[in-house]
Amino acid sequence: MWFCIKCGKPARKEELIRGYCIDCFRKYVNVLKDIQELKITVCPVCGSWFYRGEWWPPASEPEVLESLVTSEAGKNLIEGAKLVEAYIGDWKYIDSSTLKTTAELEINVDDKTLTVTREFTVRITYQKCPKCIARAVGKHSYLVQIRFTRRDYSQDYPRDILHTVLRGIQRDSIIDVKELPEGIDIELDDGTTARRIVEVLSKKYSAKINTSFRATRFDPSRGKWIGVTTYVARIPVFRENDITIYKNSLGIVKMVDRNKLMIMHLDSGELEEVDIKMYWDNKLKHPVRIEKEEFTVKEVKDDNIVLENSYTGEKRTIKTRNWLRNLKPGDHVTLIKADDIETIVPKQEGD
Ligand SMILES: [Zn+2]
Ligand SMILES: [Zn+2]
Repeated sequence: MWFCIKCGKPARKEELIRGYCIDCFRKYVNVLKDIQELKITVCPVCGSWFYRGEWWPPASEPEVLESLVTSEAGKNLIEGAKLVEAYIGDWKYIDSSTLKTTAELEINVDDKTLTVTREFTVRITYQKCPKCIARAVGKHSYLVQIRFTRRDYSQDYPRDILHTVLRGIQRDSIIDVKELPEGIDIELDDGTTARRIVEVLSKKYSAKINTSFRATRFDPSRGKWIGVTTYVARIPVFRENDITIYKNSLGIVKMVDRNKLMIMHLDSGELEEVDIKMYWDNKLKHPVRIEKEEFTVKEVKDDNIVLENSYTGEKRTIKTRNWLRNLKPGDHVTLIKADDIETIVPKQEGD
């Protein structure tokens, strides 16, 4: 039989902690050294908080308190004791720079776990974080420029893109977003976020990325140049009813879905799904020049159709194929010439 060294109560050996019964240990042994107050710096603009030499992203009070208490209590335990977990209980502001909280600390001493409840006072000082200071003077080290291969896109298009790329990224690294006639500029102070945006632009919008770095000054303390890294993301623009050259044949865009097009081949009337990325391999093109001429069907003979230009009287004989099969004399057709490629299609309403 063993006895508590304080109160003399008999106990089994494994119930004693350093010779004390659990009640006496709790009462007489201060497992956690007194912590006068916890100190923390908070950015009044964005709510980031500074602790032990580092700025942390904005978080709610209980989250901040939990990290703070866990770290401070963990460092102030008696030898051989370990903090297992800290649970934040009630907390409240005494004034704008003082916060009081209770915390339940689960502590492990010599392989026995006990719970201690403590009250902590947190002293808050307010100071702008480096990001907010940089932001105030409009400094940025990363620039993402969203640009387009053509200007004739719908007004909402750039904003839709912006909405998509900003979803799910750390917004607090964005310093400014500028809507310009030629596209959108996103200024940031964090490279990881900039690269994530660029990745979305490339994957979802088939953008081609050009990266460049412009040095503004040399930082002797870090031994390197400071400047702005610019990513120019060019997005190919296709719209419904655009005439395209794909696989060297003419097509018309029937549907646009971010990085995919549904193209109808004008030769055959067949539909094909095309990756907009092909634009960058020069396999999918916008013709530089498009001309249209109207012809009238004069004669249908076996496999041939004889056409006559309604204005010049020029005659042409073409082979019957696919969707030209039902033409009969008197019908109108359109000859489309795009760059060096020609095709004849039945006349559409409104042509
Ligand atoms: Zn005792
Ligand atoms: Zn801040």
